[in-house]
Amino acid sequence: PTKPYDPDNIFAKILRGEIPCDKVYEDEWAFAFNDINPQAETHILVVPKGDYVSWDDFSETASAEEIAGFVRAVGIVARERGLVAPGYRLLANIGAHGGQEVPHLHVHLFGGEPLGPMIA
Ligand code: 5GP
Repeated sequence: PTKPYDPDNIFAKILRGEIPCDKVYEDEWAFAFNDINPQAETHILVVPKGDYVSWDDFSETASAEEIAGFVRAVGIVARERGLVAPGYRLLANIGAHGGQEVPHLHVHLFGGEPLGPMIA
């Protein structure tokens, strides 16, 4: 990873229950909540429960079980929210050029309306 995991990042605090959030899903591997500043009708953030800065350290060091659990959780959230038939979008920002603001891996799940060609 480009930098060590900061246990005081805002999503770590949300995972520990130190900061409130609008939770939409939780299982052994993942936690999901509504984005505080939604960029679409539906804008959910899905995070792994483990301490990963980004896709980089997650893909390099997470166990196959953690990776599978996280990927499955994203799919579960989309299905539970009825997003599969109309369609939805997944996005992960990684590092400075990716515009990542919070240094705990998160996948943005956008939906609930036609999204256009891309959300920057
Ligand atoms: P990034 O740019 O790191 O991919 O996206 C971070 C996202 O986290 C942004 O969409 C931002 O609105 C959201 N966010 C930042 N702080 C909080 C917070 O305290 N609570 C929630 N629910 N979302 C947050």
